[in-house]
Amino acid sequence: MKLTDHLSAPVLPAVNVLSTGQARGRDCVFCGIILTSDTAVDLGVRDLQRAGEKVHWFPRACRWCADGGYVDILFAAAFSACGTLPPPEQLTDLYRRLRHEIRRRLPAATKASDEAGEGSLEWHAHQRNIDAAHDALADEPGDRPGSLVLAMRVAELGRRLRDLLRYPPCGGT
Ligand SMILES: [Zn+2]
Repeated sequence: MKLTDHLSAPVLPAVNVLSTGQARGRDCVFCGIILTSDTAVDLGVRDLQRAGEKVHWFPRACRWCADGGYVDILFAAAFSACGTLPPPEQLTDLYRRLRHEIRRRLPAATKASDEAGEGSLEWHAHQRNIDAAHDALADEPGDRPGSLVLAMRVAELGRRLRDLLRYPPCGGT
């Protein structure tokens, strides 16, 4: 197994932040739009622990989110977090998913930087994005952070992810 295998797909929202329709696969797991049999993309079966029991979950997404639009949903949530202060479980979920999306793009950013040649203008541009992303990933909010602290981290991760969008994620989208 390659080191990046676990980065090959976007992580799904945590079950505790989903609506009933999303948990049942009726609605898109990312954006919440109601799916039809024409538009639904099956994301495969997942095992979940629920009330101490293992249950199967069949999440589905709309075509737009499955083709990469889920990142826009993440951005909208990240950039509004400081203003709306969503519940802690939602902030924690955003935090986790944004970090994953950043980590998914770092290998391609590093590759682009290597190819640009050390010291070139391009290399500096790539390196700025990479360093800022590493700084944001290292800046952990500590145990039991307040909502505002978490919302600010989420907004920062959103900005870093935006800078990394030019690099393809591991596994493609
Ligand atoms: Zn969707």
